Amino acid sequence: MASKTITHWIDGKQYDRPADRHGDVYNPATGEVQARAAFASPAVVDEAVEAAARASQTWRSVSLARRTKILFAFRQLVDQHQHEIARLVTLEHGKVLGDALGEVNRGLEVIEFACGIADLAKGEYSENVSTEVDSYSIRQPLGVVAGITPFNFPAMVPMWMYPIALACGNAFVLKPSERDPSCSLFCAQLLADAGLPPGVFNVVHGDKAAVDRLLEHPKVAAISFVGSTPIAQYIYETGTRHGKRVQALGGAKNHMIVLPDADMELAADAAVSAGYGSAGERCMAISVVVAVGTAADKLIPLMKQRIAVLKVGDGLEPGSEMGPLINGAHRDKVSGYVDQGVAEGATLVADGRGLSVAGRPHGFFLGPTLFDHVQPGMAIYKDEIFGPVLGVTRVATYDDAIRLVNTNPYANGVALFTNDGGAARKFQHEVEVGMVGINVPIPVPMAYYSFGGWKASLFGDHHIYGRDGVHFYTRTKAITSRWPDPRHRGVDLGFPQNR
Ligand code: NAD
Repeated sequence: MASKTITHWIDGKQYDRPADRHGDVYNPATGEVQARAAFASPAVVDEAVEAAARASQTWRSVSLARRTKILFAFRQLVDQHQHEIARLVTLEHGKVLGDALGEVNRGLEVIEFACGIADLAKGEYSENVSTEVDSYSIRQPLGVVAGITPFNFPAMVPMWMYPIALACGNAFVLKPSERDPSCSLFCAQLLADAGLPPGVFNVVHGDKAAVDRLLEHPKVAAISFVGSTPIAQYIYETGTRHGKRVQALGGAKNHMIVLPDADMELAADAAVSAGYGSAGERCMAISVVVAVGTAADKLIPLMKQRIAVLKVGDGLEPGSEMGPLINGAHRDKVSGYVDQGVAEGATLVADGRGLSVAGRPHGFFLGPTLFDHVQPGMAIYKDEIFGPVLGVTRVATYDDAIRLVNTNPYANGVALFTNDGGAARKFQHEVEVGMVGINVPIPVPMAYYSFGGWKASLFGDHHIYGRDGVHFYTRTKAITSRWPDPRHRGVDLGFPQNR
């Protein structure tokens, strides 16, 4: 049994009472259990929510100047400790160190955006809407808000949520993935070091039991969720049934269309990078290349060359380009999809099964796998595999390619590779997907735009971070004000009219 226990962060400190239930936290590169995460019972979740509810009473009145100073200090601390955070990500998730550093930096960008809260949260003012009457609106925090996050970006995805929620004056309860919980705890300490008062940010670890309590707790006003589609739908339906504001981002099946006129070397680089980066465990990973007309015959040999030299290994080892999958069960599930793809008649171009990594015999590795002639009816086309398995689907025309994308139930990200500006413009106009890349395979929007898919990739009205984040974590109050002139007194039962 692992000797280290990762515990909750409640009311400004690590929670010191023992838990009844725990979950194993692996080092995916070695296959060893390196720690166990305490699982919060509903009663522990209640403690965290109560601490947040108490803290939100004062935090909502803390000046914008003070909140901004704390966010700037937090930004400095995350920047200063980015290598330590990245190391925690690699140790528990498995992705290579450079990739982990990349996610910390994309998270930092959201913190930097949140530092601009004084401008972002401005209301509106209209003078003299009626004679000597003014009207104005202000944005106020919701109170206690909760975030529930997936394993694949343990640093960045929580940072999509809490910097903006806190900047808006809310208290936050985070339930990170139980599979890689350490960096949330590390960031909780950094927030405390930055001067955030106790109780404003809390972390509870756990599984469905903790999530369900957050979904029904009367003092939780809003839920931000990022994870797989079935759970996102469950979170949305359950949270809204309990009267909460919910944004729930789900899974994906991202297509990359390659037209015959594209720069094929560039397209091959992009497909391999976006298909196998982070071992395909990204919600914006490319999982289907849609090759139009003659494109496939040029593209596949170039992709094959690049796959052959990819270095798979422990994410902490210099030179590793792709790490292991999150755990053995997931590796076996992904490997099962490769078996199924072969059985269903797709052509296996590169086979990652049976890969062995020197010195890491028990790591959860699977090599990069490429299929050609993937048909839309096959499981490897339909399901989100979430591993290093990329398929090429051949279509005759550009319209066929767009139709294929638009009939897919998922609609998170999509990319087009072409040198034709007219084709690109048609694409951005017609494609029914939330995030679109033109010669960019992973079009993750900047912190000052918002992130979100359409259809089965997002349940709710708001995308995450950016201005949508500020709107999600605040509610508008409209005020009508008159400072009475003694000349205008007297009872009037009519509906107020502007004069
Ligand atoms: P997941 O849905 O299994 O888990 C996400 C969170 O929900 C975790 O905190 C987990 O503890 C909790 N959870 C799991 N099962 C639950 C249940 N039955 N009831 C209540 N809570 C439950 O997702 P994951 O495997 O951690 O992450 C991978 C998935 O996340 C992929 O589908 C990926 O596409 C998706 N994802 C989407 C985005 C996006 O922005 N759309 C970003 C990252 C990941």
